[in-house]
Amino acid sequence: MNTYYDVIIVGTGAAGLFAALSLDPQLNILMITKDKVENSDSYLAQGGICTLKSPDDFDAFYNDTLKAGHGENNPESVKIMIKNSPHIMKELMDYGVEFDLDKQGNLAYTREGAHSNYRILHHQDVTGKEITSKLIMQVKKRSHITLLEDTTMLDLVCDQNQVKGIIVLHEGEIKQINSKAVILATGGMGGLFKHSTNFRHITGDSFAIALKNHVELENINYIQIHPTTLYTNKNERSFLISESVRGEGAYLLNKDGERFTDELQPRDVVSNAIREQMKKDHSDHVYLSVMHMDHDQVLNRFPHIYDRCKEEGYDMFKQPVPVVPAQHYLMGGIKADTCGKTSMTQLYAVGETACNGVHGANRLASNSLLESLVFAKRAAGVINETIAEVENKHLDYDLTKYQDVEKLQKENHKLVLDEIKKRDEEFYDKWCQFES
Ligand SMILES: Cc1cc2nc3c(=O)[nH]c(=O)nc-3n(C[C@H](O)[C@H](O)[C@H](O)COP(=O)(O)OP(=O)(O)OC[C@H]3O[C@@H](n4cnc5c(N)ncnc54)[C@H](O)[C@@H]3O)c2cc1C
Repeated sequence: MNTYYDVIIVGTGAAGLFAALSLDPQLNILMITKDKVENSDSYLAQGGICTLKSPDDFDAFYNDTLKAGHGENNPESVKIMIKNSPHIMKELMDYGVEFDLDKQGNLAYTREGAHSNYRILHHQDVTGKEITSKLIMQVKKRSHITLLEDTTMLDLVCDQNQVKGIIVLHEGEIKQINSKAVILATGGMGGLFKHSTNFRHITGDSFAIALKNHVELENINYIQIHPTTLYTNKNERSFLISESVRGEGAYLLNKDGERFTDELQPRDVVSNAIREQMKKDHSDHVYLSVMHMDHDQVLNRFPHIYDRCKEEGYDMFKQPVPVVPAQHYLMGGIKADTCGKTSMTQLYAVGETACNGVHGANRLASNSLLESLVFAKRAAGVINETIAEVENKHLDYDLTKYQDVEKLQKENHKLVLDEIKKRDEEFYDKWCQFES
């Protein structure tokens, strides 16, 4: 690892990888990730990725996104996302990403909750793995990109509201790495919650670091709860049962085997309905049933979900599976414009870390991979155009204050949780069951 790079990208999910591939190859780029490169939430995406399949779906796609977001979306961001989606799909396919095809050999589209049309591309039920692994392969081919695993960002290096690099924990040592620009692509904050579909190491570090360095946050309390994760009492990442299972016709059932809500409503509505039903049933879960559906179709479309439920002791064709809502996604984050620019000069935020208003108060299913890619590319575009003019004055930070990493991380977690509580005590009390 060198001590200087033109651009540092923190995070190797879809947003970080796509930003790296979109940056000028003349630039010297460092990518770091806290864990192994594949261990990002992007890798876990099951349902798929939205796209504008034909121009006449633009208005419906736009309206569905705004309706799910309770109208709090930034209309410009939504339009940019939808308009750019066909180019992004083409670029993904050029990178080798394979989407499922129908019997005629055309792209097959599916639908999820709150979508009025079939506009979601997928690769079986492992779309995130397909996209992310192909992007990782591309990144690894490029000699101007250095990729470091098991390397954690602890702080930003900054001076007069301009970022100059980052402080990292790498191979047990605290190090300063300087750069002209930093892209934060660290995902959400699920690791702070007891029940979350996110990887446990994704703990909203960027938000604590932003708070400490006076970088603006927006809607950090806009947190999506996913209605259906496989119920478990083990302390581990919750296994998500994709929205598309309900999109394809699965039922939610109470303890007496009766349906209690419209399964295709937006996530927050369904999550609340489940929470209410659990209270009525005095139970810590409800059930999801695919027993009435065509079994071959379920197996063909959701092989991974079927296998995982079976591993946990539930044959989806013989019994309904117990499900419970869990933290899933953050709509808010570091305030960013439609090119990922934050309130700090040369600091960019993309993907789930950023809040550019695309999702409003609630994300429409399968918009997040798309959003991550569209705005990562736009941030890279601005950096490509402007980086030559950026001055790089070296700053030396005192590294001794970072020595107690465990204490620092605990403080960071508390900082983020306190900020959520400050902004929305009701949400905090209702859904936040944190690690002790
Ligand atoms: C189970 C599941 C299923 C999903 N299904 C879908 C779907 O079907 N369609 C869809 O559109 N979206 C889906 N999503 C959401 C979507 O996958 C993510 O929101 C999106 O991919 C976020 O990508 P990202 O690149 O911003 O962050 P992530 O992919 O979460 O990557 C974050 C990266 O930051 C790194 N990192 C974090 N903190 C630090 C630090 N301090 N130092 C260094 N590195 C750090 C992590 O190690 C990781 O590499 C799903 C999410 C989950 C959890």
